[in-house]
Amino acid sequence: MDISIERISSDLENVVRFNQTPGNGCTRFSYSKEDRQARDYIMELMSGLGMSINVDGVGNIRARFGMESESPAIMIGSHIDTVENGGKYDGLIGVLAALETIRVLKEEKAVLDHPIELIIFAEEEGSNFGVTMLGSKVLTGKLTIDELKSLKNKNGISAYEVCKNFNLNIEGIEKDVIKKGEVLSMIELHIEQGAVLETEKKSIGIVQAITGMKTFKVTLEGDSNHAGTTPMNLRADPMAGAAKVIASIQHAARNLALPTTTATVGRLFCTPNMANVIPKKVEFYIDIRDVEPEGIKRVVDYITERLCEVSKEDCLKSRIELIGKSSSVKLSSSVISLMEQAAAESGAPYMKINSGAVHDSAMMADVTDVGMIFIPSIGGKSHCPEEYSRVEDIKAGCSLLLKTVKSLAVRKSIEI
Ligand SMILES: [Zn+2]
Repeated sequence: MDISIERISSDLENVVRFNQTPGNGCTRFSYSKEDRQARDYIMELMSGLGMSINVDGVGNIRARFGMESESPAIMIGSHIDTVENGGKYDGLIGVLAALETIRVLKEEKAVLDHPIELIIFAEEEGSNFGVTMLGSKVLTGKLTIDELKSLKNKNGISAYEVCKNFNLNIEGIEKDVIKKGEVLSMIELHIEQGAVLETEKKSIGIVQAITGMKTFKVTLEGDSNHAGTTPMNLRADPMAGAAKVIASIQHAARNLALPTTTATVGRLFCTPNMANVIPKKVEFYIDIRDVEPEGIKRVVDYITERLCEVSKEDCLKSRIELIGKSSSVKLSSSVISLMEQAAAESGAPYMKINSGAVHDSAMMADVTDVGMIFIPSIGGKSHCPEEYSRVEDIKAGCSLLLKTVKSLAVRKSIEI
C-alpha cells in the first residue's frame, strides 16, 4: 500500500485554516488560539488511529502507535508553529507525512518490532520568545525551568507563565526529558527552504549534516563630523571602515573558506544615521555557517585580521563579539544509507544535501540516530506566503519516510 497524497492535502488544507493572518501567509504561533485549534484537530486524528497521546510541560505532543512495548521507539514528526506571515508547508508537512505513515502502517496491519512515536515539537520557530527549537531543547534537557522563567515574550510574559496559561504542566519538564535509549531513531521530513533541489531537479534530499553557525556583532567607532567641512584626509569614518570589512567577509567566504561556507551581513545600525554627517558609530552582525567548523574558522580568522588592519588604517576603535553559536550536526550514516537504498528502489530522483537551517532534529542528534528528508521548496522560498511544495514531491518524500520507517520498525519475518 502506498501513501495517499489526497489525505495529506486535505489535512493540510484543514490545518492551515487555523491561521491568524488569512490572505497574508500563515501565522500560527505556539500557545495561540490557532495553535490550540490545530493541535485539537491533529490529536483527534491521532486518537482515531488508536494512538496514545502525551503532551509534555512545554507543549511537545508525543503520540505512540503500534504497541505498548518497552522497546525503543522510532520517532517521526516535526513542528506546526510558524513565523509571522509564514508559509503553509514549513513543519506542518512533516507532521502530516508522519501521520500518513502511521495510517498506512495501520491499514497494512503491520507487525512492528518498535513502537512508532509521532512528535510535534512546540515553539520551533522561536516566534514567541526569540529562542528557536524551544520544545526540542527542553525535551533534550538543554533548557531549564529557570531559563524558561527568564525568557520573555514581547508583552513581558515569561515562557514559564505562557506554558502555565496554556494548561501545560510546566513544573514537570525535568521528568519529561528524553532518555538515551528511549528512541532508536528520529526521522524528520521537512521542506528544504532553499533552491538546491529544485535547481538540481530532484524530488528528495537526503540530509547528511545540519550546519553549525556563529553570529558576531562588530562595532566600529570614529569621529562624527560635518560631511562638507571635514576633508577626506582628516576623517575617522566608521561607515567607510565597515564597508571595507563587509566586502572582505564576502571575499573570505567565497574564496578562502570551503564550498559549503556562507557568511552574511543582514543587520546594520549607524549612529546618528544622517545623510550629511560622518557617523560616530556603526554596528553590524555577521552570520557565518558551515557544516565543517574549518569553514567558519577561516572566515573568522580573516575578518578578525582585516578588522584590525582597517581600524589602524582609518583610525577607528573596533570590537568583535561572539553573540551566538551552534555546532554542526552529522546525521546518522546508517539511517542515511537506509534512505538512499529506499530512494534508489523507488526510482525517485534524490541527492545528498546539507541543511543550512537548523531543525529540531539537530537537538535530537545527541540522544538518538537522526535522519532528515528534504523536499523541494519552489523558488527556494520559505518563511513567506509564497512558500510552496509540489504534491508530487510531497508524495515522493512521504513514500520515502514510510519505506524508511518500515525498514526500521516492521518485523521482517514472523517466527513460527
Ligand atoms: Zn521548520
